[in-house]
Amino acid sequence: MLNEEKSLNFIEEIIEDDIQAGKHDGRVLTRFPPEPNGYLHIGHAKSICLNFGLATKYNGKTNLRFDDTNPVTEDTEYVESIKKDINWLGFEWAEELYTSDYFDQLYDFAVQLIQQDLAYVDDSSAEEIAAAKGTPTEPGVPTPNRSRSIEENLTLFQEMRDGKYKDGEKVLRAKIDLASPNMHMRDPLLYRIKHAHHHRTGDKWCIYPMYDFAHGQSDSIEKITHSVCTLEFIPHRPLYDWCIDKLAIFPSKQYEFARLNLTYTVMSKRKLLQLVNDKFVESWDDPRMPTISGLRRRGYTPASIRNFCERIGIAKRENMIDVSLLEFCIREDLNKSAWRRMAVLDPVKLVITNYPEGQVEELIGENNPEVEGGEGSRIVPFSREIWIEREDFMENAPKKFFRLGPGLTVRLKHAYIVECHDFVKDENGNITEIHCTYLPNSKSGEDTSGLKVKGTIHWVSVAHAKKAEIRLYDRLFNDENPAAAENFKESINPESLHIIKEAYIEPDLIHAEAGKGYQFIRKGYYTLDTLSTADHLVFNRTVTLKDSWAKEVKK
Ligand code: ATP
Ligand code: MG
Repeated sequence: MLNEEKSLNFIEEIIEDDIQAGKHDGRVLTRFPPEPNGYLHIGHAKSICLNFGLATKYNGKTNLRFDDTNPVTEDTEYVESIKKDINWLGFEWAEELYTSDYFDQLYDFAVQLIQQDLAYVDDSSAEEIAAAKGTPTEPGVPTPNRSRSIEENLTLFQEMRDGKYKDGEKVLRAKIDLASPNMHMRDPLLYRIKHAHHHRTGDKWCIYPMYDFAHGQSDSIEKITHSVCTLEFIPHRPLYDWCIDKLAIFPSKQYEFARLNLTYTVMSKRKLLQLVNDKFVESWDDPRMPTISGLRRRGYTPASIRNFCERIGIAKRENMIDVSLLEFCIREDLNKSAWRRMAVLDPVKLVITNYPEGQVEELIGENNPEVEGGEGSRIVPFSREIWIEREDFMENAPKKFFRLGPGLTVRLKHAYIVECHDFVKDENGNITEIHCTYLPNSKSGEDTSGLKVKGTIHWVSVAHAKKAEIRLYDRLFNDENPAAAENFKESINPESLHIIKEAYIEPDLIHAEAGKGYQFIRKGYYTLDTLSTADHLVFNRTVTLKDSWAKEVKK
């Protein structure tokens, strides 16, 4: 629905122009090219929604291509997690491909450039090459090897491949323009030597292509029509075009959009890996992480993430998105879909002194009052002793406190109206028990008491309650833009996780499923943790009920 109402984004405009012009016979093929060196994060979700979304909109397809040109940082664990996350977000790729599958072809492309006298083997060290490149205001100077003959270059490149040289001893460079105002065009590296085991090609190769040589050519091999990436690749685009032009291969085109930046969040995989390794978080899927797997474990739904990506749109300039928009999206989704349950996080006992001892009533509560029919219901047992929230009682309640205190009345959700007549304190002054009477003719749904009470509170029957651990999460960083600081770890919020060891939850919650959202009435949205067990139930708070963003939107 959003799609039809909204005007086209600039990439959609380009695609529609291309289709009109009959380019590639109107075919649209995009790709999502993760490097398997970490778990996907919410920034990747933006790229995924864009690439797969474009393909869906224009009857095209999207390839999943693992950009696995760096054997040292990559792992099959990451490959598996990436596939799982994309599927979970609701997308299916046309083909699962690996840049490493193109190593032979990429090697041949490099040989072709050498034969065209457009590439050469350089023995200079990394420092020598950097120094000879000049500065943005001063042209570079050729290194001694730039004038090597084609024959010599062919032999040396072959020897590089055959393992005759050590790491860093030689590189293959494109021969373009040492005076180019674009530093990426000053004879960029195409291949480097790396004697390292690759997670897919094993020990077959000891030379690996650089990103700039692998990416465009891989796009071209797959006949990608629109290769969408983030803004930092703008200066790489001339090289992308140069390689495709000189090799005279399929003319894929690169387009750039602004990456997602979120307040109070770091997004780079390198930094996220540090958080895991330095034990600031438990794992890549810690519910505080901005990873897809972390958000999933936290209780985010695929629809809420897709919706978020749709809302933020596609821009040509860097910006910072308020993380409360993401929270708004999950709240909006869960308000419609979460089943309502009762849980008492900070319990104090309430005794209904005129309720018969040993009596139990099986009250009925709708699962989801937001939809017609309520999506069924569950039984909520009620008895003489119940747990309520400590904060729902005040000894000296002010005027507008519509909860419990001596002489005050309140409705117990799904049950009766009760009036407080007494309470018990321990020697430290803590309330240990609240005594109430109930009105037998005030039962929810069949209330004939005629009494109007302002407040309704949640509760759980003591005899039927189950124990659960509840994890409350806060932002992982105190700084709005932690990535801008010299050391992003300095602004880590030491109170990002608060654990309630023993909360009481209604018995039906033993059927809770990880990933399904539950609204603990008056307390927020929760989901069962993936590591929860029947003996030790654990719930994660996805998001609170309070909503600062909705107010912003209405302004
Ligand atoms: P990181 O810097 O987090 O490690 P990356 O760009 O190195 O990310 P890749 O695996 O290379 O990660 O990225 C796969 C795709 O996802 C690329 O097309 C990249 O442009 C895109 N992408 C990565 N981060 C973001 C982001 N924050 N917003 C939008 N797209 C992103
Ligand atoms: Mg990368």
